[in-house]
Amino acid sequence: MHVKILASEEKVDKPVLFPHDKALERLPSLEREKMMAEKLQRLILYAYEYAPGFKARLNSSNIKPDQIKKIADLQKIPVLRKDDLIQLQKENPPFGGYLAVPLSEIDHVYQSPGPIFDPQRRLRGSGSQSEIGKGTIAMNTWSYHITPAGLLIDSTLRGMGFTVFPAGTGNTDLQVQIMHDLKVSAFAGTPSFLAAIIKRAEETGYDFKKDFNLKYAMVMGEMGGDILRKMLTEKYGITCLGGDSYATADIGFIGGSCDRNSGMHINTDVIVEIVDPLTGNVQPLGEIGEIIVTPFDEVYPLIRFGTGDLSMLIIEPCECGRTTPRVPKIMGRSGDAVRVRGMFVHPRQTDEVISRYPEIASYQLIVTRTQNRDEMLLRIELNRELQDRGNWLEVLKKDFQSACKVRFDKAEFVPAGTIAKEAKKITDKRVY
Ligand SMILES: [Zn+2]
Repeated sequence: MHVKILASEEKVDKPVLFPHDKALERLPSLEREKMMAEKLQRLILYAYEYAPGFKARLNSSNIKPDQIKKIADLQKIPVLRKDDLIQLQKENPPFGGYLAVPLSEIDHVYQSPGPIFDPQRRLRGSGSQSEIGKGTIAMNTWSYHITPAGLLIDSTLRGMGFTVFPAGTGNTDLQVQIMHDLKVSAFAGTPSFLAAIIKRAEETGYDFKKDFNLKYAMVMGEMGGDILRKMLTEKYGITCLGGDSYATADIGFIGGSCDRNSGMHINTDVIVEIVDPLTGNVQPLGEIGEIIVTPFDEVYPLIRFGTGDLSMLIIEPCECGRTTPRVPKIMGRSGDAVRVRGMFVHPRQTDEVISRYPEIASYQLIVTRTQNRDEMLLRIELNRELQDRGNWLEVLKKDFQSACKVRFDKAEFVPAGTIAKEAKKITDKRVY
């Protein structure tokens, strides 16, 4: 089957209903919110008319489309979870009643885990326009099959002037050869795959810095990529492009970091809410919750789509001049988090605090409930004896509370080997 590749938005002949407006990024927040609220009203009316799945969803929750007037009104609409979408697509294949244009207008259909089918007319790339790649070849190791990542990155790279080699995933030896023979100047993929390619090249006898031409890396999609980015820059002189970015298969590009490394700016083509994963209510500012995305998308208006990813919002304007809200990083999946006295505690947060204490060999948090109060016990295995356990514990307690916003009630020192290697970092023993 021949797959048509769209170069960019301008090839869409029909007028775009919700055009991307770059100026929004730097407007005072209130002004932007007003404009986005206006856009949201149009989106809701549009989706109600053209996406029967969304219409049915509003109707069954007794919500009228004209009740959604501002961003805060979105909360009235139940979150559309992946499981809901899977169910809707089963009942009403293939798109669960969320496709709002005729199929003839769709260029690509993707499948994301679930499985969920995602129709896409436009490529929601990050839209960066520069010429740094002109006359050189970029190697794109994201998959071009089934998921949208490959084509999305492809369009971004071409927008930067690169000629793209669609390398796809896997086969490290072949990738080393291609990178060398094509004098590839940019790599797109996960940081660990690039590290694996470099390692293989060096094992083969190459001097990577001398024998290869790699100058840029657009690496993303993994936790802890920062360490690899630093290594790529310092050891190999590779410039990392784009920093972190956040995208999902169902929605596309949601946000990306600027050159100030201050978190990922939310794209103005989406509305992001941070909600309590259990109730769907918006969390107070600064608290962790699930990322809910409403894209301004006339093709597939997945209004209030629950990503299952945890983060929080930062609203202070960034030094780069953008005033758009940011998410500092993805803090885990909502399924791994445990709620203790109203606050979410995620293993990634606790890992982070504990990692500041090299004397802790292993730890485990146990959550119980007595007399209607959640209690948290921290079990600690030490790898050396402490001079003053009491003082040490006080410091740890404070650090823990400031990172997790909730304190542990008790701590227990246990002999080495007590905590099983495969034990969950946070064990929820509450019974309701
Ligand atoms: Zn910024």
